[in-house]
Amino acid sequence: MDVITRFAPSPTGTLHVGNIRTALHNWLWAKRHGGRFILRLDDTDKERSREEYADSIKADLQWLGLDWDEEHRQSQRFHRYEEALDRLREAGRVYPCYETAQELDLKRKVQLSRGKPPVYDRAALDLTDADFVRYENEGRQPHWRFKLDHSKAIEWHDGIRGPQHFDPALLSDPVIRREDGSWLYMLPSVVDDIDMGVTHVVRGEDHVTNTGLQLQMFEALGAPVPAFAHEALLVGSEGKLSKRLGSLGVEAMRETGIEPMALIAKLARIGTSQPVEAVTTPQPLIAHFCFDTFGRAPARFDMEELESLNARIIHQLDFDQVADGLPNGMDRAGWEVVRPNLHTVAEAADWWHIVEGPVTVTADPADTDLLAAAVAVADGTDWTDGPWQALTSALKAQTGRTGKALFLPLRRALTGRDSGPEMGALVKLIGKERSIQRLKAAAGL
Ligand code: GLU
Repeated sequence: MDVITRFAPSPTGTLHVGNIRTALHNWLWAKRHGGRFILRLDDTDKERSREEYADSIKADLQWLGLDWDEEHRQSQRFHRYEEALDRLREAGRVYPCYETAQELDLKRKVQLSRGKPPVYDRAALDLTDADFVRYENEGRQPHWRFKLDHSKAIEWHDGIRGPQHFDPALLSDPVIRREDGSWLYMLPSVVDDIDMGVTHVVRGEDHVTNTGLQLQMFEALGAPVPAFAHEALLVGSEGKLSKRLGSLGVEAMRETGIEPMALIAKLARIGTSQPVEAVTTPQPLIAHFCFDTFGRAPARFDMEELESLNARIIHQLDFDQVADGLPNGMDRAGWEVVRPNLHTVAEAADWWHIVEGPVTVTADPADTDLLAAAVAVADGTDWTDGPWQALTSALKAQTGRTGKALFLPLRRALTGRDSGPEMGALVKLIGKERSIQRLKAAAGL
């Protein structure tokens, strides 16, 4: 079987970590099986869907490297939904209803006050021809409901949640089309999944009940039912879906200096029994991706953990993977020297400024003699080989200083910082001339 998955965002907002995770899992599953990954924009809601959101969703997926093989828009497929509705009507599986929102609300309240589940009572099925004529004369348009088959339990084996069971009699017949002719999400999604040959539907567990209802729609349309996997939701580190988490979009990630690969590595494994690993390509994530490893408890997303993973990944990234984000003039050697000290790729520029200078230092007067000696030693040192080694061993012999007392004043004079990349590699990048200038300045010469 060729695996086909889809990511179906509504272009009514930008992507956040929760839906990026869903996109990623669909992508990983398709890649793992050499299958296809579809991007479907669920834009049936004309009022709320915006082109700028569609563009931003696509740009974000591209930034993350989640390439798609096909792109569809529900707004271009209304004719298919009409056809499906016609078929369901002929089969007696949809029916028109005329209740207003207030009437339905009242029914629900009465049911609840009697301790009954608020399930639609199917009153519209009892409408007579005279009722229909009357409504028509009043110019009223119906909304349409899908008629669930109460004789058949709804069951499926969920890829993450295991065996699922619903009694259809305890569910309301879902509204699939509004009186103004607009479509709700339920039926178009099924029609698309059928037409596009979707084999696996991976989405959040907030869709579990929808799946129960949609299973009967697949069957009523005579189509094979795809496999379903519903993932536990993502929660913030404080244990509940926080506003902040909901607003953690790609833009915020980029601003924080999170690399796409770090987000991918985190979201691929969070909430599973597999460890989050600092990988630099998606290949190992693809190779080991498996729904069996997913837990049912909400997955906890922690920004600090992501930042530390980000740093671990950056420490391994090759020059070619980051070249676009590096300052002018920084080459492979420069990248490899500063890389172990970075939390974000952008910080490479700070170190590059230090290499290129100018660097201003105020040295401790107690170190003036050491730094003056350093100027003389540096002057006679060959910089092509190991200048730092040569410099420090000569100064150690001359001054008797060792360890921090020796290294810290030199590091401060040469970089203006107390810590940073390994000095041996750094002084080579700074070069002989600039090193001597800085030592002189620090020694007050
Ligand atoms: N547009 C729906 C959503 O964003 C798609 C759900 C699905 O994957 O079927 O929730």
